[in-house]
Amino acid sequence: MGKLYEEAAHEDKKIADRWQKRTKEDLSHELTVSDIEYLIGPVFHGGAKITENQGRALILILEPSKLTRDAVKRLRRYADNADLNEKWKVVHLVSDDELGVVYKALRQDVVAKIIFKSPGTGITYAPVDYNVIARLIYEKEIAVYQAKAGGFSRIASAVAFYIGSNKNRLVLNELISPDTRTEYIVHEATHAIQDWEAVRSLVHHNEADAFIAGAIAAAALRNVLRADKPPKRDGDVVTIDAAAQIVIDKKADAGNKDWTAAYQKVVDVVAKFYKDKAGTRSTATPAKGKVFKRVLAAAEVDAWKPQDWERYQEIRKTYGFGSDPTKGEKFFKRLVGKQGAARML
Ligand SMILES: [Zn+2]
Repeated sequence: MGKLYEEAAHEDKKIADRWQKRTKEDLSHELTVSDIEYLIGPVFHGGAKITENQGRALILILEPSKLTRDAVKRLRRYADNADLNEKWKVVHLVSDDELGVVYKALRQDVVAKIIFKSPGTGITYAPVDYNVIARLIYEKEIAVYQAKAGGFSRIASAVAFYIGSNKNRLVLNELISPDTRTEYIVHEATHAIQDWEAVRSLVHHNEADAFIAGAIAAAALRNVLRADKPPKRDGDVVTIDAAAQIVIDKKADAGNKDWTAAYQKVVDVVAKFYKDKAGTRSTATPAKGKVFKRVLAAAEVDAWKPQDWERYQEIRKTYGFGSDPTKGEKFFKRLVGKQGAARML
């Protein structure tokens, strides 16, 4: 018995035995589709959840192994077809410490540039909306779960998802680097905004908005971290980044043809991945819309910083404190009255 077998068997003997039977512990053996089915099928079949030991055993074995292209596809299909909520063991993140990763992703310096009106959904996104989602998480109106499968949930192509309707769950798999994590948390928070704002919209548009918002957050984080080696972004991501850049440059106006064209390109990219969901609409729950507005009103007061004048003006436009500037001015004075007007600018 080799070292790898021993290590894997220590985690899960059945998995180690199946691997041994199939490969004779020969790592030069390229795992085929049928090998993967033999090795992993039993883990995914049946009602039991994937355990951390199983996950760790599979990672130990798969990491040094060679897999055919089709075997990789099969592996991923197992993960993608498994309902994350049903199949993966998930833990409820409750304490501020556990939820820190989510709060960090939604903090001001990351979401500050997410200000745009979507040509698709018609929703106007502003940083304060992300503050509201953080608040709803803090108030446990939205529950956050993280998969716990010894790291194995990372094989799923979905790194995170949001379940709206009456469930209100944000589920994260075992996420990797901080910037990927941030991008996807902001992406899912965007879906949460769509859900809580109770706006009826098309899935392709919901996704386009979420991808653009995520890309803006990722760019902001690269700035914050001053990454000297920014991760390579290619393929479809370039299309998404192009639209995101227009928002960052504050040129995402309805009248800017470059923006509407860039947005449409993102919709086209998204349509490739969400074929089955094309044309469906999210459910709008008016009661949640009310909660969102209440928390939004509170967050606007709370998130206020005197130096946020510019952002305030943008938000004011968005949230209809009126095009009448004196109306907004009153609101503004009421907000900052306690702090003294001199500190504002
Ligand atoms: Zn999405």
